[in-house]
Amino acid sequence: MVVKLSLNSSISEIPSIGKVYQNKLAKAGIFKIEDLLYFFPFRYEDLSDKKLIAETLLNQTVTITANLWQITKFKTKTGRTIIKATIQDKSGALEVIWFNQDYLLTILKPNMLINFSGKIGLFANKKTLVNPKYEILNSKIGQPIHTERLVPIYSESIGVSSKWLRSKIFYLLKSDLLISDFFSEGLLKKEKLIDLKTALNSIHFPDKSEVIEAASRRLVFDELFLLHLNNLSSKERRGQESILHFNFEDQDLIEFERQLPFVLTDSQKKAVKEIMGDIKSEKRLNRLLQGEVGSGKTVVSCFPILSCILSGYQACLLAPTEILAKQHFQTIKKFLGERIKVELHTSSEKISTDQFDLVVGTHALLNRGINFTKLGLIVIDEQHRFGVLQRSFLKNQTQKPHFLTMTATPIPRTLALTIYGDLDISILNEVPTGRKPVKTLVVPRFKREKAYEFIKKDIRAGGQAFIICPLIETSETLVSVKSAKAEFERLKGEVFSEFSLGLLHGKLTIKEKDQVISDFKNKKIDILVSTPVVEVGIDITDATIMMVEAAERFGLSSLHQLRGRVGRGEKQSYFLVFSETQNQAVLERLKLLEKFNNGLELAEHDLGRRGPGDIFGTAQSGQFNLRLSTSVTPDLIVKSRKVAETLLEKGLSSELIEKKDSVNQKSFISD
Ligand code: ADP
Ligand code: MG
Repeated sequence: MVVKLSLNSSISEIPSIGKVYQNKLAKAGIFKIEDLLYFFPFRYEDLSDKKLIAETLLNQTVTITANLWQITKFKTKTGRTIIKATIQDKSGALEVIWFNQDYLLTILKPNMLINFSGKIGLFANKKTLVNPKYEILNSKIGQPIHTERLVPIYSESIGVSSKWLRSKIFYLLKSDLLISDFFSEGLLKKEKLIDLKTALNSIHFPDKSEVIEAASRRLVFDELFLLHLNNLSSKERRGQESILHFNFEDQDLIEFERQLPFVLTDSQKKAVKEIMGDIKSEKRLNRLLQGEVGSGKTVVSCFPILSCILSGYQACLLAPTEILAKQHFQTIKKFLGERIKVELHTSSEKISTDQFDLVVGTHALLNRGINFTKLGLIVIDEQHRFGVLQRSFLKNQTQKPHFLTMTATPIPRTLALTIYGDLDISILNEVPTGRKPVKTLVVPRFKREKAYEFIKKDIRAGGQAFIICPLIETSETLVSVKSAKAEFERLKGEVFSEFSLGLLHGKLTIKEKDQVISDFKNKKIDILVSTPVVEVGIDITDATIMMVEAAERFGLSSLHQLRGRVGRGEKQSYFLVFSETQNQAVLERLKLLEKFNNGLELAEHDLGRRGPGDIFGTAQSGQFNLRLSTSVTPDLIVKSRKVAETLLEKGLSSELIEKKDSVNQKSFISD
């Protein structure tokens, strides 16, 4: 009995793929036929222009179908071997040469009918086809696949040649393979999607370039749909978990809010209400708190932390860097220190006791395997830096703790649906009053001296400045990039000799870093020259100027984060963006910073200009990987989300669930 192959069949069931290749594919995460068919080409080579020999012109890229007349090998004076052939069609004859490809003698034989694709050049003053691709035409295969068409080019990084992949995928698609669509015809029609079998055929072997777009649209839709399905159903599962109940007196939180040195902003109040609402509900808290740098996320997190501890549980707060962990530790101690026992744990400062209410730390916390006897809440600052952490933390927990994640990365709403689709979202859309918006200037090269004078004036009036340089050491490949060290020396000696300067970078020991930061805080240092380590959180109230060198090397969202380091006090602050680039498009992009002070608006505009690819890039950090991410559009995100929601409401067919699980397990391959 012949078993029909399906997407789910193992690669080993394909007769023409032997053990060696099976192993190579397995290393790249390709086990099933589905995996192989979803290994998409990253580009296409257009070899579709077919010509008779007599029609060909110099410098044309063409495909010629011809008979091989003769083939020989000779050496040039410089010692290169050349394979030279004469080919012939009904219109005439042409010379073909290949450099250093001796093996062709054993493959190409006189009288074979062959397709040659390549460029017409000159050799020994004669029109010659140079280094063409070839494909022996074989009546069994029928149509050519490596020539005379739009030819798919696959990434060879997995150790298998593009030509090999092309043949196998072609064979599979032409075979009697079972590809069942998991969307109904009605739905496809409604969403203007082509069917799956056609989409897979067209993405690999498009007969014209127009069909590639429809194919990517369908395949991207699938990816987004499955992602949404995954997110939505994990949200749904959350509703069914047994949860930790916090038992505390509301009065204690009210009292805590009352004794804060400031009044909460309206959006802080709203966020606290949403978070505490979750905690009191029958659903586990799994919320993202998104807010501009300086919008006051930390104090918001104190509310669930306090409620957790008043209920007799422990809490932990994780920060992406030691500097930030330390800062959180100090801030929270200030707010909550009299009420709870707070400890700090980083790779250089370890806690010695299990007797604590709250531990603040970096991921060093995980390595130590701290004994949380009663973990009730995990707060994560800048969640995307903690990819797998969440899961590993939860592994042995029977009752999952509540989760609050915080981020200053502004993600446009539509994208948040995919990136944070399994989380509820609260947004802090204002910064505490009394802060003046930071003035931003993209400084042209010739105004550098003027900018320095401006900084001097500001510091003489009691301000402080950050100067950010992208790299620590001068790198020869990036000559134009100012290294922090070299720049520090130069500025100290030549430009700002009347002031005191400090240097901060990732290679300093923690002790040295602490010293520099506290010197800056205490105004012993006027100007802090630094690599972007300050990016995500240092709180220096008197800093009024931030200047960034080689700004074109940063993403807009990183630059915006940097900008948030100033403007924390009462005085007017400035963000000076330096770039040596002459590229107008790059400068235009930087100028968006002058126009938009709000991170979310900035991100929306960046999305409009460049598509979501970049934002996915910065936000995902390996959390998920869309194979066709460049074809994602906000429209597709919203539509696929709707379909996923509807299907989930109706109850899923088993086929869909199978599909959904395979998304969970798959390690996506990207080029
Ligand atoms: P971020 O959202 O960037 O993490 P932080 O939590 O570090 O912001 O808060 C920035 C600063 O603003 C801190 O010094 C904090 O004490 C202060 N702050 C927070 N909320 C308010 C408020 N409502 N009014 C005044 N200052 C506030
Ligand atoms: Mg913060």
